[in-house]
Amino acid sequence: MDTEYLVVGAGSAGCVVAARLAESGARVVLLEAGPRDWLPWIHIPAGVLKLIHNPKVNWMFASEPEAGTAGRPIHWPRGRVLGGSSSINGMLYVRGHAADFDGWAQMGCRGWSYEEVLPYFRKSENYIQGTSELRGKDGVLQVEDYRTILPLTHRFVEAAQQAGHARRADLNDGEQTGVGYSQSTRLGRWRGSTAQTFLASARGRANLRVETDAQAGRLLFDGKRCVGATFRQGGAMREIRASREVVVCGGAVNSPHLLQVSGIGPGAHLHDIGVEVLHDLPGVGANLQDHYVARVSHRVRGSISTNQLATGLRLMVEVAKFALSGNGALTFGVTTAQVFCNSREGLASPDLQLLFTPASYDPVRFGKLEREGGMTVAVCPVRPDSRGTIMAGSADPFARPRIQPNYLSAASDQAVLAAGIRLTRAIFAAPAMAQHSVVETLPGPDVQSDAALLDYMRGYGNTLYHPVGTCRMGEGPGAVVDSRLRVHGIGGLRVIDASVMPALTSGNTNAPTIMIGEKGAAMILEDARG
Ligand SMILES: Cc1cc2nc3c(=O)[nH]c(=O)nc-3n(C[C@H](O)[C@H](O)[C@H](O)COP(=O)(O)OP(=O)(O)OC[C@H]3O[C@@H](n4cnc5c(N)ncnc54)[C@H](O)[C@@H]3O)c2cc1C
Repeated sequence: MDTEYLVVGAGSAGCVVAARLAESGARVVLLEAGPRDWLPWIHIPAGVLKLIHNPKVNWMFASEPEAGTAGRPIHWPRGRVLGGSSSINGMLYVRGHAADFDGWAQMGCRGWSYEEVLPYFRKSENYIQGTSELRGKDGVLQVEDYRTILPLTHRFVEAAQQAGHARRADLNDGEQTGVGYSQSTRLGRWRGSTAQTFLASARGRANLRVETDAQAGRLLFDGKRCVGATFRQGGAMREIRASREVVVCGGAVNSPHLLQVSGIGPGAHLHDIGVEVLHDLPGVGANLQDHYVARVSHRVRGSISTNQLATGLRLMVEVAKFALSGNGALTFGVTTAQVFCNSREGLASPDLQLLFTPASYDPVRFGKLEREGGMTVAVCPVRPDSRGTIMAGSADPFARPRIQPNYLSAASDQAVLAAGIRLTRAIFAAPAMAQHSVVETLPGPDVQSDAALLDYMRGYGNTLYHPVGTCRMGEGPGAVVDSRLRVHGIGGLRVIDASVMPALTSGNTNAPTIMIGEKGAAMILEDARG
């Protein structure tokens, strides 16, 4: 099989890249390790809770046990299906703060300042609630405010204001500070994954071929030029050659792993695991950053939470509402309102995101709703200092890499998370929320001192599912790709996905990853024109 462009991975970024390249008329093959997105839970927004632990559409990774998690491995879901993680995520649309992208530019990523990335956010987007110089209207990615909002969410927004957080009309205005309602990526009442939006808009083109259940094994090279990849499909190994470029869009876990097993990565480590070194690039798999959250939960009185809507007669009513009018609890993702705030004075932009959901979950197995009504804030330090690694453990391309996030290894992350828990408690103590609280169930009223909070964070904290940075963009020794996302030292090869972010954005990572896909595809086409 041969093509002009080979795109490996049909996730948030890969579907954008493949669709944009195909629109240009180029011949494109898109390889996806997982199946087509036929599973109904993918498309019903509330179905997200059925996907987090579902091996049919999920790589089901786990981090290594480490001190920061009290020796617990942390479950790391990643989408393994058409649409990738955009098919299993919580659908929140959060672009980040303008300073995030200006920070990338400061770190040597030319062309990635806020002013320069804003047109790509706008290009993708069709913001149902309206257009402005910040928000787009003509894109295929539908972004929408919540259709149904439970009163508890309104009370949370009120309580946050009572606790001193200003109301912000649009949390995607580049400034963020304050409290506001969530926006999400959807297609009418359904989930709007990049498969159902970008890829769907390009399907039917004879020049785009999508191969599912097709996992790339190793990249193929002619000297130091990438010319294709091997892949496994239906039990057989096959090969595909690309005359122009290979674009790796496997996500923050699989992209560095694919590079490493193909001979691009930290030379000494590759040598140790029996991989022949093609190009010694120490940054591949380093610089891992993730959002690590601790939850504050309360038992609810005097108002309905999602827990009560998820069983019995009430659930049947919600199913009927969804079927008849496209509204109700089945249109919920997880987070309905958010606060962006500072853990301390003197910060240029918020370092905390407090994500409110009118529901409570099993303290250990996130995603399993409790029987009784509850409400939860996930407290998230958005720009953590802890850094980890993702490393191939063997030369076998189909073995799992070792994920070592080093959560809470930086004392600064412990302090920001503790401050975030205290700020959240102040919101729950404000009158609009206090009237609905029976008791704080997590961390619990006895957990007050710094030491007790740290034990809680280590014992019960969880990922917010936002790994980035493992094929870092930039110049210098730790960089993997340049500002045009070309792998340093190798021809014909780019990485375009969340792994190229040099630093986490202040918020959830799907929208910035889609932006990276848009900008990356535009750069490929510009470079092809010469
Ligand atoms: C449970 C969950 C909830 C989340 N909630 C939100 C949210 O509400 N809002 C938000 O903004 N972000 C959220 N995120 C994060 C966001 O979805 C990700 O940051 C984003 O999807 C990453 O995009 P990506 O293109 O880098 O990787 P992915 O979307 O993960 O895509 C990678 C694709 O490549 C495929 N692949 C990998 N290796 C190979 C190979 N060797 N051969 C072929 N194919 C391969 C994978 O199967 C996958 O389809 C969530 C993530 C998860 C997992």
